Amino acid sequence: MSKTALVVSAHSADFVWRCGGAIALHQTQGYDVTVVCLSYGERGESAKLWKQEGMTLGKVKAERQREAENAAKALDAHDIRFFDVGDYPLDLGRETQERMVDVIRKVQPAFMMSHSKWDPYNTDHMYTTDFTLTCRMIAQAWGHKPGEKVLGAPQLYLFEPHQTEQMEWKPDTILDITDVWEKKWAAIQCMQGQEHLWHFYKNVAENRANHFRRNSGGQAGGRAAQYAEAFQSVFPRTVDTL
Ligand SMILES: [Zn+2]
Repeated sequence: MSKTALVVSAHSADFVWRCGGAIALHQTQGYDVTVVCLSYGERGESAKLWKQEGMTLGKVKAERQREAENAAKALDAHDIRFFDVGDYPLDLGRETQERMVDVIRKVQPAFMMSHSKWDPYNTDHMYTTDFTLTCRMIAQAWGHKPGEKVLGAPQLYLFEPHQTEQMEWKPDTILDITDVWEKKWAAIQCMQGQEHLWHFYKNVAENRANHFRRNSGGQAGGRAAQYAEAFQSVFPRTVDTL
């Protein structure tokens, strides 16, 4: 089994709130986790920067890249790449698709992560998931760039969106990230442009830990997780034992 994973993040901060713990945890387990940020969230998720005098698109992008690189470092992520395809909306045309398929084939992830399938507040997020599924499919096609190593069947985990209940997102997997919480918290604090979200996502992690405790046995031996992240998986699991 390949010990690699691939995160596809619409904007440069999404991977931090939604799966920073999963990234840090799998790095400690010997995985190489690659993060692709399709954009910097330069237009749509950088309001605090735009409120500053004399701000330009170039300055916002540079600042958001710096923050994301620092966050990736805090999580010990193996690699972070910036596609810079613009945001609000993302340009997910043929060229971006080719680039993404090349990355998927090169990384050969054991699992992938992206956004919820539905997000009426932020269509960049849901189109990213649709795009990720399309690229996964192309990477599995024997007729696409014959001779390259074809992709197997990595699970796609959909990470937790903002305003969960509006997104038709229902978790079926809860990951205990207690051991790496300090790394995630450090990464969150790299996101200076979105300070209003820091405590919201700490709170989400604490609440998901409550669900971890309940679903791992509750009062009858549940594990005492303090922080957790939840995910919805897209594909069935293939098992020998239930
Ligand atoms: Zn986003």
